[in-house]
Amino acid sequence: MFNLKELYQEVIVDHNRNPRNFGKLENPTQIAEGHNPLCGDKLTLYLKIEQQIITDVRFDGSGCAISVASSSLMTDALKGKTIQQADELFQDFYHLMVETADSDTKKSEKLGKLAVLFGVKAYPTRVKCATLCWHAMQAGLHDQNSTAIKTE
Ligand code: ZN
Repeated sequence: MFNLKELYQEVIVDHNRNPRNFGKLENPTQIAEGHNPLCGDKLTLYLKIEQQIITDVRFDGSGCAISVASSSLMTDALKGKTIQQADELFQDFYHLMVETADSDTKKSEKLGKLAVLFGVKAYPTRVKCATLCWHAMQAGLHDQNSTAIKTE
């Protein structure tokens, strides 16, 4: 294991050991796959979207601590959000995780617990582990490479 700051590590270890929202979702409206060949992380994200609101979201698969913790934290954050809010969350998260080296404290605060994942930025090869589920979420919401399940 690598040295994340202690607090960060604690949250990540907790979410890796006891991932929230882990397991298949009954009757999802969208399923998206994520695969990170660099690390071997593979996950499936199940979304239930009703009237533009993410009413439920779960994931399964296998991956490293970072990818599982990120999925766990993300799924927790997504429940009850509208698609638009989920997109905004993705943009804020992705911006701070990938596009900027600065830590924008205000934006970080807005992201709450998700900000613990920014500790991973110190390990550039692991950033893809943390963003994997987020890309899957975007695919699921916007039908890119995801399996859309028709609802009656
Ligand atoms: Zn990984």
